[in-house]
Amino acid sequence: MRALVVDADWKPQPEYDVTDREQQTGRAMNASKIWTDPTLSLEERPRPTPGPEEVLVEVRYAGICGSDLSMVASGDDGYMHYSAYAKFPNTIGHEFSGRVVETGSDVRLFEDGDLVTSEVTDYCGRCNACRQGSPGHCTYFEQLGFTVPGAFAEYVTVPEKLCWDVSPLRQAYDDEDALLKAAATIEPATITYHGLFGRADGILPGDYHVYHGAGPIGLTGMNVSRGAGAGEVIAFEPSDERRAVARDLGFEHVYNPIERDPVETIDEVTGGEGADVHVETAGAVQQTYPAIEDSLAEGANVVHISNAGSDPEITLRKYQGSAAQIYGSEGHTGQRIYPRVIRMMASGSVDNLPIVTTTYPLANAEAALERASERIDGKVLLEI
Ligand SMILES: [Zn+2]
Ligand SMILES: [Zn+2]
Repeated sequence: MRALVVDADWKPQPEYDVTDREQQTGRAMNASKIWTDPTLSLEERPRPTPGPEEVLVEVRYAGICGSDLSMVASGDDGYMHYSAYAKFPNTIGHEFSGRVVETGSDVRLFEDGDLVTSEVTDYCGRCNACRQGSPGHCTYFEQLGFTVPGAFAEYVTVPEKLCWDVSPLRQAYDDEDALLKAAATIEPATITYHGLFGRADGILPGDYHVYHGAGPIGLTGMNVSRGAGAGEVIAFEPSDERRAVARDLGFEHVYNPIERDPVETIDEVTGGEGADVHVETAGAVQQTYPAIEDSLAEGANVVHISNAGSDPEITLRKYQGSAAQIYGSEGHTGQRIYPRVIRMMASGSVDNLPIVTTTYPLANAEAALERASERIDGKVLLEI
């Protein structure tokens, strides 16, 4: 089968303290400190065989994520931009939909022909984090498309426990092609769902939600916020193209933060009350946090999702003064996230299809990644 493979050299930076676990597993916890000179190639790989508790999925659509781009990008010193967990060589890709074509001997929930998507982080269920209810922070995790083979390939094996049936989306989409396209956007939508409802505390219907950044995570998040009953969704995004996608989705309050002062604009739209919910999906934290801190509604929840390269200055007094809190949120694992996003999409309250602005065949994957790195699309998909 064909697979899009990233390879890189293991060359820890001199000042980086490689842990025993990193050494044993060959898996970097911070790829940008260890992996250099990444390369990307479309290769012929053997079709995988599912283990007893795994299913084999024939991939149909797979979305390109910012993390995929940062695994193939490097600085002048050659070190990879991607700053989280990774092991190479590896087939990348983790946002996908497809059809089950083979099941392991112990698989109970799925059979051949089922239309599915999958969570990204495999967890052991036995470590301290897992037993505390945080499987997303499992000590012995693996991540599809980061530490084990992912979905930019004709086939991918997935543990049954991470797999979700997407056939309920038939309610919202007449044809299977549209259904599978939409299903490939479930993963990005779960990222904000987890931030809003898995991490933050007490978000209410009618709350004012402000998105700082309307890329794929921001756009799918805005859909989730609206579907979950936000009083208003406001977004700040410098890309003209991405603001146009947001408007096509029916959002009225979409602004260029370079031209419109976010604090004044939030004040205007919320009648002076401020934002009940701020979602940081831009990564431009030096710009976004000062604006967030000056537009906190009483009891505001700030949901921090982006992976920024540096830290902003935080003015604690402003959080005290507004009884506000910042919630760090990463991933989407467990906590009942996937089935609820699937239900929202099935009911039509979240439609991510208009966010998919460009599709490329797997054979043109390099062009697709280049296009995605322009960061003007809603979502770029690979059709496999
Ligand atoms: Zn992603
Ligand atoms: Zn665990």
